[in-house]
Amino acid sequence: MPDRRLTWHVGSVLPYASLWHTVLRACALNVLHPHDLPPPGARPPATVALLERAGGVDVAAFARLLGETPEVFRWSTLGALPSWLSASLVVPQPRLCFACLAAGYHTALFSVALLDACPIHGTPLVERCHCGAPFHATLHSLEDYAAAGSCRCGRLHFFTHETCRRPSLAPEATHALDPVAAWLDAMARLIRSARLDEALCQHAPDGLEWVITAAQALGLAYPACLRPIRLVPPPISTAWYTPRPRQTPSRDHAPPPPDKREHGKPSYWPSLPATTVYRALARHVRRHLAPDGARWVARFIDSCDPLAISAWIGSSPCARQAFIDLLWGRAAEPGVEQRRWPDRQPPGRDRGSAC
Ligand SMILES: [Zn+2]
Ligand SMILES: [Zn+2]
Repeated sequence: MPDRRLTWHVGSVLPYASLWHTVLRACALNVLHPHDLPPPGARPPATVALLERAGGVDVAAFARLLGETPEVFRWSTLGALPSWLSASLVVPQPRLCFACLAAGYHTALFSVALLDACPIHGTPLVERCHCGAPFHATLHSLEDYAAAGSCRCGRLHFFTHETCRRPSLAPEATHALDPVAAWLDAMARLIRSARLDEALCQHAPDGLEWVITAAQALGLAYPACLRPIRLVPPPISTAWYTPRPRQTPSRDHAPPPPDKREHGKPSYWPSLPATTVYRALARHVRRHLAPDGARWVARFIDSCDPLAISAWIGSSPCARQAFIDLLWGRAAEPGVEQRRWPDRQPPGRDRGSAC
């Protein structure tokens, strides 16, 4: 393809605008044909996908053809989402808000399955044309390019003569989509076990609800514009993994006696007979009943996989004793995780070896 500029109104790609809609506008304005769009590799693909992934177009080269910056295409597809999020959240076809469409706007975020209505206008999102045909996000044949801009039935146009050049939607209106994009961004960074990914990709029942509930427990607020979901009933407790300022003495260094403590710093341990008994018991358990406990707990934390942990507990008496010690500590001492296992890395070579 020769290096040339397409007919285009620079600055007319609104925030979150979809690659699908922008490519259709470019096709209509320039009467593009297959092979006119810059391919991502040496050869043009047979089918140009424009929604879930931008596998059919070199977006940076396309931006140059339009005179736009590549940054305006940051959310033009949902292709950047990890596969587990995409499999559990994305409808693999364009969904439209007719009010947005009338203003010359469409976003790939409408294909997030938890979005029932347009966050800008509150109108329901639709997946099919008046004729009943679904909207396709791929360009495959000459007919697809020729019909760019409308459904093949001719009764629904994706833009008008004017909005094809520049959408009439106010750019500020797209801020209504900010919470959805921010939530997807944060969800994509969640640390998960491989088994959870697998379950989500296979649409395991309640899998998505569980992840959303867990994300909420971690402080990731669920956007109000998404469909309300049923939160998973069992409470989810959190143990922070990021380093925090040490507030309590390490177990390796016993706290100084009360008369030698710095002024104003209360002891971690209340001076009660029950505390003395608990600490003596805990010391006995650590030294004699579950001497490998720290190593096993480090392995549990490293795994984050309940199924793997249950397998270890089932096959190793040491793992079982470590787990019992862990449960007992949690029941008897609030915040024991921060005292005994804050940010504990698994020991190097011999970590988690069965005994
Ligand atoms: Zn709308
Ligand atoms: Zn139609």
